Amino acid sequence: MANSIRVVETISELRAAVKQARASGLEIGFVPTMGALHEGHGRLVEVAAAECGFVVVSIFVNPTQFGPNEDFARYPRTPEHDQAVCAQAGAKLIFQPSVAEMYPAGQLSTFVEVPSVSRRWEGEQRPTHFRGVATVVLKLFQIVGADRAYFGEKDYQQLRVIRQMVVDLNTPVQVIGVPTVREADGLALSSRNRYLNPEERQTAVALSAALKAAGRLAAVGEQDAGRIRQELHKTLESAVGVVIDYAEIVDAETLEPLDRLNPDCGARAIIAVRLPSARLIDNAPLPRPGEPA
Ligand code: AMP
Repeated sequence: MANSIRVVETISELRAAVKQARASGLEIGFVPTMGALHEGHGRLVEVAAAECGFVVVSIFVNPTQFGPNEDFARYPRTPEHDQAVCAQAGAKLIFQPSVAEMYPAGQLSTFVEVPSVSRRWEGEQRPTHFRGVATVVLKLFQIVGADRAYFGEKDYQQLRVIRQMVVDLNTPVQVIGVPTVREADGLALSSRNRYLNPEERQTAVALSAALKAAGRLAAVGEQDAGRIRQELHKTLESAVGVVIDYAEIVDAETLEPLDRLNPDCGARAIIAVRLPSARLIDNAPLPRPGEPA
């Protein structure tokens, strides 16, 4: 049986609980989420709990990171299930604020923008998304005051945005990236996978299959990023009903597209596709020649 977990909805209650934990000598870990938790989120909490005595999970479906025609209204909300996942994985507190608690004036006058790593890819497809993410994550960092914050590599560009923000603004928190948790067939766990019908669920394997194919090419020494990119596209195009938003080989730091792989800098394959019922993203590091794919 997992321990029961405390849920608070106000910033003042959250701050009081964190202050008390600190006073008893515990380090504070923080896992920001939008709820509808799955084993991927559970992994972030487990990693946090292994390193920090007091783990806070925030559950907040942040309206400012959704575009006007996106799924804010229908984004899944599963509070009881989320509490069980958090308790099981070792979190001590859930911070579940209302929209009014986070945005009491309705909207903010201050925003965080990280154009260098936000401009391309998701930023092109979703122009206001990363401004919404960076701003709410900085607000949450200020509210929680954690020592360490845990983010999934599943949202790799988001992780880069947060890392850059923390460096640029001297935010006193250590950002830790956690590898993507996948289903047995390779599909990256995502709260949005529940939008897929059974046929689309089968098709969605194409994303991880494409990443694996790209990884195999890199592992046998292919250095032409254009060739590896073609491999991504070939695999995705063979899946019926998939529309590619992007499928690219990028520098793992800057997220700029690469012409050639270079053993001195990390490379990442990044993908976003649309299926009729959901938009899916995935990514993976490309191995250096000789490393396992
Ligand atoms: P979300 O609730 O989708 O905003 O995600 C909250 C956090 O969980 C983010 O840091 C995500 O990158 C992370 N996350 C989502 N899916 C996975 C996954 N399959 N594996 C690891 N982390 C994940």
